[in-house]
Amino acid sequence: MRPFAFKRAAAPADAVKFVAANRDARFIAGGTNLVDLIKEGVDSPNELVDISRLPLSTVRSMPGGGITIGALAKNTDTANHPIVRKDFPLLTQAILAGASPQIRNMATNGGNLMQRTRCHYFYDLATPCNKRQPGSGCAAKDGLNRYSAIFGWSDSCVAVHPSDMCVALAALDAMVNVQGMDGKTRTIKFTDFHRLPEASPEKDNTLAHGELIVSIDVPKNNFAANSYYLKVRDRASYAFALVSVAAALHVERGTIRSARLALGGVAHKPWRAAAAESFLAGKRAEIGVFQQAAELAVKDAKPLSENGYKVKLAQRAVAKALGRAANL
Ligand code: SF4
Repeated sequence: MRPFAFKRAAAPADAVKFVAANRDARFIAGGTNLVDLIKEGVDSPNELVDISRLPLSTVRSMPGGGITIGALAKNTDTANHPIVRKDFPLLTQAILAGASPQIRNMATNGGNLMQRTRCHYFYDLATPCNKRQPGSGCAAKDGLNRYSAIFGWSDSCVAVHPSDMCVALAALDAMVNVQGMDGKTRTIKFTDFHRLPEASPEKDNTLAHGELIVSIDVPKNNFAANSYYLKVRDRASYAFALVSVAAALHVERGTIRSARLALGGVAHKPWRAAAAESFLAGKRAEIGVFQQAAELAVKDAKPLSENGYKVKLAQRAVAKALGRAANL
């Protein structure tokens, strides 16, 4: 392991200043992914800036009925916060579907957004990986790609984003507030926060180096009574999604006023199924309609050699999640 300096930031501005000044510096909070990456030699920072004691762990209501979630609030505390449980149960379900209780007790919300793919080749230093070493190739594209993407991949990278929480946040049209070197905060739409791999898969998101996530806003919605997070995985706990679905419906007297659908385990970022959402608006909340929406949700899938099963799995998972959301 490469030796590294360790600094503790006293304020968000200090943390930003330290990391922005050094390309090989990283923020560290819960460390539930970064420490693994360092131990495996996938990442080798020469400086870690501890942000864990910054005052960014509050979860509170916003004027107008939304919620703002501190970047350093733990996943467990966020999932179990009374406002989240009551008004944003989709987020609670998604967080509790992720990782193990021990990891959720350590992991922060900002870290959840920043976690890196679990593509096996990314962690195997003996194999080519454009995300770990740009220009070296992608071992997964024509290799073991059972877990890889069926949407939005490129010849450079076919990895998927591993988070469950992010799939719910994408469905709920969350916003990410980040602080930069100028001391100002800018806001990024959640669906624009993570990026597709294109020709530069080494970049997972649209943050500049040194920008610090300070909070995540989730706007008020009408989905609390009709939402569901469905995760399909190889074993019942502590496994990443083969496919997951965040489904949210606003239903009035059996008619869908609006719908949100996001899929996990299928792309380099949480994947919104926009065509299916549009189709659902104005339709009756019934199984046949959900099956048609599910067909639309996977219409543009492009499976690889070993993950064709994900297309049917995603289709069935979408139909099932919509049915559960509608309490059918
Ligand atoms: Fe690396 Fe991405 Fe290819 Fe996996 S899919 S080997 S992360 S470039």
